[in-house]
Amino acid sequence: MLLLSSPVASITPVNPRRRRPPPSPSLDAVRRLVDSTTSKNPAAVSSSPASEHPIQALRRGDWVKLICGASFEDAADVRNLSLLYALAGVDCIDCAADASVVNAVVEGVEMAMSIAPVPRPWVMISINDDQADVHFRKAEFDPEDCPPDCSRPCERVCPANAISLERLSVKDESPDGLIPRGVLQGGVITERCYGCGRCFPVCPYDKIRAMTYIRDVAATSELLKRDDVDAVEIHTSGRHPDLFRELWNSLGDSLNHMKLIAISLPNSGESTVSAMDNLYLIIKENLRCHNLWQLDGRPMSGDIGRGTTKETIDFAVHLAAAQDRPPGFLQLAGGTNAHTVDCLKKVGLFQAWSIPDQTKDGASCSTAIMPGAPPALIGGVAFGGYARKIVGRVLSELKSGQIEDHPEQLLVGLREALNLVGPMKCGRPTI
Ligand code: SF4
Ligand code: SF4
Repeated sequence: MLLLSSPVASITPVNPRRRRPPPSPSLDAVRRLVDSTTSKNPAAVSSSPASEHPIQALRRGDWVKLICGASFEDAADVRNLSLLYALAGVDCIDCAADASVVNAVVEGVEMAMSIAPVPRPWVMISINDDQADVHFRKAEFDPEDCPPDCSRPCERVCPANAISLERLSVKDESPDGLIPRGVLQGGVITERCYGCGRCFPVCPYDKIRAMTYIRDVAATSELLKRDDVDAVEIHTSGRHPDLFRELWNSLGDSLNHMKLIAISLPNSGESTVSAMDNLYLIIKENLRCHNLWQLDGRPMSGDIGRGTTKETIDFAVHLAAAQDRPPGFLQLAGGTNAHTVDCLKKVGLFQAWSIPDQTKDGASCSTAIMPGAPPALIGGVAFGGYARKIVGRVLSELKSGQIEDHPEQLLVGLREALNLVGPMKCGRPTI
């Protein structure tokens, strides 16, 4: 594995390309669709300050986070994704810790809010304490090393359209004159690769390498001080608390600007809670805001199929029952998709306040929440690859960069996004 220097750039002004939405009538259908769903979104009808909506969603158990991808840096796509899912009512948008990506999220959110009166989702950036984390890697290969007649399975398997190859004919000079041969050109589109790893095993010639990296701490600290960055997520294996402590201490006072600090960790079975305890011991003295544990079941797999959500559901069942776990909201991720809510209901953990054997059919959406009540056992769900996949066709068909310039496609994408977000936001009374 090679270490890349950090791609984190210097801070650029927020929203440098602010623009107005297109003329009102062209987006009326979008506004009507958002209006028709607003009454079902507890955040939109809550009387509490807008800045508290995401925390209230976690308390109710209806928090939804869009994961743009810790390594996904295609600013145009990130902007449009953010716009679509802000209109769909997500509570948080998690993106790469890169200034241009954060700018893209902010621009998408601001455009969404100018189109329809949706609550502003929090902006979260994702970082890592260890370059072994699969979310922080890029695929790389030299197409000139590839056999020109390769059938290019890497290109077909990539869920992000991050590999683009073209076969060219060139002529080499030789003593016998010019000799034609084929070569491949193109390769990995680095900003679109989010490190899912699916291309690695399919290459018959073993040409693809993983380039891992750790986000630069100093640049991350500057990002955390921005007014439009609300939350940070630290990805850790939980097995090397020394690495986590080093990162935590290096971020220093910049963490005081956060409204939420999330720790994303894999399921380590019986040692998970003790790993969480060790991490909580490190953060608790300087923790000035809410904290969240992201239960990363099967990373970057939600778009593969129905069954991928099982691992994060199993993780949730395990931790919801762990009475001795450290404080913090619990949120699912890794393999989440359109089946996750149903699976949560089946195990009695959807918007539930008691562990499954005390819950009859799982909590229903009509259960009232009393002020001061403890939070839901599972605060919510984060959707990544699946959320991107269901709007991917719309985004890839755009002729120009901004989806609001194409109201029909915006409407198609918004319907897809609402189909995913809607089941989480099912009209629970507000706190
Ligand atoms: S790692 Fe995943 S996203 Fe990156 S090029 Fe390979 S298949 Fe595409
Ligand atoms: S599958 Fe391997 S050899 Fe074929 S084009 Fe892709 S990287 Fe090159």
